[in-house]
Order: sequence, then structure tokens, then C-alpha cells
Amino acid sequence: MTIQSFIPPRRILMGPGPSDISPQVLQALSRPTVGHLDPLFVGMMDELKQLLKYAFQTENEFTIAVSAPGSAGMEACFVNLVEPGDKVIVCRNGVFGERMRENVVRAGGDAIVIDDEWGAPVSIDKVERALKEHSDVKIVAFVHAETSTGALSDAQALGALAKQHNALTIVDAVTSLGGVPLKVDEWQLDAVYSGSQKCLSCVPGLSPLTFSSKAIAKIQSRSTPVQSWFLDQSLVLGYWSGEGKRSYHHTAPVNSLYALHEALLMLKNEGLDNAWQRHRTMHDKLKLGLEKLGFKFVVEAADRLPQLNAIYVPEGIDEAAVRNHLLETYNLEIGAGLGALAGKAWRIGLMGYGARQENVALCLQALEESLTQ
Ligand SMILES: *Cc1c(COP(=O)(O)O)cnc(C)c1O
Repeated sequence: MTIQSFIPPRRILMGPGPSDISPQVLQALSRPTVGHLDPLFVGMMDELKQLLKYAFQTENEFTIAVSAPGSAGMEACFVNLVEPGDKVIVCRNGVFGERMRENVVRAGGDAIVIDDEWGAPVSIDKVERALKEHSDVKIVAFVHAETSTGALSDAQALGALAKQHNALTIVDAVTSLGGVPLKVDEWQLDAVYSGSQKCLSCVPGLSPLTFSSKAIAKIQSRSTPVQSWFLDQSLVLGYWSGEGKRSYHHTAPVNSLYALHEALLMLKNEGLDNAWQRHRTMHDKLKLGLEKLGFKFVVEAADRLPQLNAIYVPEGIDEAAVRNHLLETYNLEIGAGLGALAGKAWRIGLMGYGARQENVALCLQALEESLTQ
């Protein structure tokens, strides 16, 4: 067998991530690799921090990109902030809330789980009741944009509630960052992580992360060291900060960071407000077309994520066959249902560079043709 270079087709990625990447970002990825302690690279990292602060709307000094996917950003928050015995309220309304619970347990924490229906947002009332019932809760953890269902939760209200009860927040903003409003400082959120491959439309494998001064204080007052060496953020800090003098922690994914710099620069040039509006406008167009085709959304209109549209598969349709047809005939990828929605729903992503008119039109036309077959 002769093995040749792998040359993938150009797919249109309208699933739950990774999303379409702009040619500009792919070009940045292929620029020459420099040493990760090269002064020019260090300068790029400083700019990258500025751009991340803008995307997160924060002045937090600790704002970086973890050199691993969103799941590592999640784990970084839990292993650093949860100490054995800490009570953590975990809101679970989809796949990623359950992963948060597992992280709490593995870090030795005591998870108090608040369940909501798949497709519903996190209930503020339930969280408030739990906070009143347990006066010693240290952390409230929730998913801002649940990619498994397409539901948006009220991060502002949850942030305010946690503060009233002297608890920190851990927020999954993997799918929300760049797609819907997220204001880390204004909403008083403490530990927020994201992913490069959703609404930032960058290559997979990086996890933007920001910690408030309160989160840093909790890390600094730990009585036991963080169990994970790689994710111990007190060690990583020396690599990302220190004005010009960087110390080696691990080899940064140099080219991926060029790509993130480019993707964030595109976001800054467009402006966050415009990016949020574009996601909303494209969602409205897609929704109109889907409703014309008779589709029903999983999530109530008020709680829907514009960037992740979960719709029920019509009765009698082989959902996997349709997805395969879209992939083979149109080079179009949409997502299958996950967890409780497996086999019952499709998830259509309009993320970042993918949230544009031609994608909406192609998706609607391809779905209509597939269903009439
Ligand atoms: C995709 C996703 C993750 C995991 O990110 P990976 O980069 O796949 O590790 C976590 N949370 C949410 C809400 C996601 O959508």
C-alpha cells in the first residue's frame, strides 16, 4: 500500500464545531514556525492576550489560551479552583453540564447537581434555592451556550446570584464566545473558558481562558497543589506573563496561535456587536426557511442560540442517511443529536465564518432536496 498526502475535500461545516475557517486564518497557520521564546513570538503573544481580553470583554490580567481543546479549558477551571471537600453547584441541562459534574467529583469536590430539561436554560430559581439551602457553596458552574441542545442560559443573572452568595462562577463559554453577548467583567464571572473552533472559527486545539482576581486568589490560597501538572495555571502564568521574560513551561502550539491571533483580529475588526448581530441575522433567515420546510425547534424561541439550531428530525426519516447524503452530495456537514437527542434531532451550526448567507441558502436547499428524495 502506498500512502499519499492527505488532501481533504473542502467541506462546509455547519455542525456543532469545528466551524468553517476563513482562508485568511488558514493562511496565518501556514506562516513559518519561529521558536516559542523568540522575542517576536513573545510580542505576538502579548497582542493575543489583548485580543482575548477584547473577545471576553475583560480586563483580567490572567487571560490566555490553554494549549489544548475546550475540554482542557474546562478541566483547567475545575482542577485549579476546586479543592477537596468544596461544595460546587453544577447546573446540568445537557451533555456539557454532566462533564462539569464529573470534573468536580474527580477534583474531590462535592457536586450539588441542579437538573433542567434538555433544551431548557438553567433555572435561576432552582440555583437560588440551592444557594439558600447550602450556605457554604464555593462555586457555581454552568454552561452559557449548551451546544448539545442549542439553549442559552442567563450568565448575567447567574453571575449576580453567585456573587450575592459569595460564590465564584465557572462558566463554559465554548460555543458562546463571539456568537452571543458575553461580558465577563460586567457580569462578574470568575473563571470562563472557551474553544477556538466554534464561533471564533479557528483551528481546533486551543482553549481561551480567563480568571478574575477572585479566582486567582482562591488558587493562591489552596492548601494542596493542583493535582495536574500541565493544567496548574500558577505554573503557566510564568509562561504567559512577565513582560518580555518568558520561562519555559511547555512548547506553545506556535502556528495554531498565529491562527488564533488572526481569527481574533478579524473579530476585533468586525466588532463584537456586529458579529453578534450577524449570528442573529443569519439565524433568523435560517429559522424562516426551516419553518417553511415544516421543521420544529428543540428550544423555545426566547432561549435559542443563534449559532446552534437544534431541530427535530421529521417522523419516518432516517436521520443518518440524510446527513450522509448532505455530506456526499453537497460537501455539507450538519450535526447529529447528542445524548438525550441522539437519533431525534439535527444540530445546524452557524458559527463564526460559517454564519453567512450562502451557507444558510445552501443548507436550506440541500435539506429540502434531501427530504423530497
Ligand atoms: C465543544 C464544546 C466543549 C468541548 O470542547 P472541545 O474543544 O471539543 O474539547 C465544551 N463545552 C461546550 C459547550 C462545547 O460546545
